[in-house]
Amino acid sequence: MNGGFFMNILFPAECIVCGARLETGTLCNACRRRIVPFRAAFCGTCAAPLPGFRNICHPRTPYLLGAAGNYGDKALRTLIYALKFGRMKSAAEPLADILIHYFAQLPFDTRGCSVIPMPISKERMRERGFNQAALIAERFAHLFGMPFEKNILTRTKHRTAQSDIIDRNERHENIKGCYEAKPIKNAFGKILLIDDVTTSGATFTEAALALRAAGAKKILALAVAKAL
Ligand SMILES: [Zn+2]
Ligand SMILES: [Zn+2]
Repeated sequence: MNGGFFMNILFPAECIVCGARLETGTLCNACRRRIVPFRAAFCGTCAAPLPGFRNICHPRTPYLLGAAGNYGDKALRTLIYALKFGRMKSAAEPLADILIHYFAQLPFDTRGCSVIPMPISKERMRERGFNQAALIAERFAHLFGMPFEKNILTRTKHRTAQSDIIDRNERHENIKGCYEAKPIKNAFGKILLIDDVTTSGATFTEAALALRAAGAKKILALAVAKAL
């Protein structure tokens, strides 16, 4: 018997979105089914869908974007909000599962891939107590049997939260030079970079540039939700 068992007696699990009673977990099946999943990968610059996995419109974008759903989706937004601002670590599980289902249907060769979580600053880590992207990325990597590399990419500077800045250019300025990457040892140089949500793509772009400078050849940036 573990602590979780007692917690379930004292505080029966509820769906975080609709409040329905649950045996376990944080999201009921009905709410999960209501999330409209994306099917394709996207251009990191203009968010055009790329069914053939080739960036034709903006080939110089340092990564391809994958996103499982829309941040406007109530269930996705509620889960991400609970994880990041409500410090509800259990919300990482359904979010990772949503990303896993999305990724599994993409025509992406996973051989030689490493999974890297989007890092947060030390200040943010102190405040939140955990990196929400790392929780999602670790479950994701484990399920696909890929190496989970949480120490390659680091966030060196702490700035205003991107979510507090509305202007797209300001977002890019705010995040510039904020990431550092150790040399990539993975011979294929294939990286899956994972975050919970992407808005302007500024964070993914900066992190991808740092990873490319460290030897990454192919980067698929995966967010559970995109708000582009
Ligand atoms: Zn529900
Ligand atoms: Zn484009």
